[in-house]
Amino acid sequence: MKKLLARCAKEEGLTGREKAIVRELREENEKLAVIPPEEYGDFARLKAEAASVWAKAKANSDFSAFAPTLRKIVDYSKKFASYRAKKGQKLYDVLLDEYEKGFDMETLDQFFGELKEHLVPLLKEVTEKSGSVRDDFLTGDFPDEAQDRAARFLAEYVGFDFERGVYALSAHPFTTNLHNHDVRITSHYGKRADSSLFSVIHEAGHGLYELGIRDDLTLTPVGQGASMGMHESQSRFFENILGRSQAFWEPVYGNMQEIFPQFKDVSLKQFVRAVNKVKPGSSAPRPTSCPTACTCWCAMRSRKCSSRRTWT
Ligand SMILES: [Zn+2]
Repeated sequence: MKKLLARCAKEEGLTGREKAIVRELREENEKLAVIPPEEYGDFARLKAEAASVWAKAKANSDFSAFAPTLRKIVDYSKKFASYRAKKGQKLYDVLLDEYEKGFDMETLDQFFGELKEHLVPLLKEVTEKSGSVRDDFLTGDFPDEAQDRAARFLAEYVGFDFERGVYALSAHPFTTNLHNHDVRITSHYGKRADSSLFSVIHEAGHGLYELGIRDDLTLTPVGQGASMGMHESQSRFFENILGRSQAFWEPVYGNMQEIFPQFKDVSLKQFVRAVNKVKPGSSAPRPTSCPTACTCWCAMRSRKCSSRRTWT
């Protein structure tokens, strides 16, 4: 395979698309070639089993049931990163490059450092002012059927094409694409209406990115998101920049009031203020925390991980 790809790379007259496909295949091949096949097989089996172990542990709120599996996954990831690491390269940088090509901890530390300088005082200031913002109406008994109607309505509202995709429930919201004509998004329902509403807007953002992939690129190595950060920028743009603005809800808030009678006496302005309420006490990542706290959480996680970036 390696030789074949090297020959392809030297081929004259390749189109830009073909060159990109060969480049991606060579990179992928280099990453996989250094891992012993039996180890990779064991890892693939472990990951397949991990999903059901995680789902059961989550349902029972029992992290200890999932911890040993997670430990094994982390160990494998570190081991594989050590196979791939170039001389002197930190393991965390190897892993980071996998999700954000060209990124390393030095760049990320600088990026989050600048962000922190502005975000922390902003979070403090906004928190002090948001105490009086009412958001109690977002919590309650919202029937699954109503949340389902709202989710499908919002996905369609932001442009998700149900002719080329499906929507379903899952333990945690996610998006997957099997083809640019088969994009699948999921969400979850609970006691917080905003959690399911914003989850579906977020996933629809991921879905739109996938649906936007050209027909001649789908199913090729370049027919997917450019990076995890790029993908997340699309979903969070829909969720936070569009979804938390008053203009977004103006044409459809009446539909939400019709689906959720709990919002009948809640004005559009009150609703928009509530979904923008800053909740710094929440240390959880989205979909349960506000965007400001969520970004701080990412920066904090990055610091925690980077302090262990010399994993061996
Ligand atoms: Zn996302």
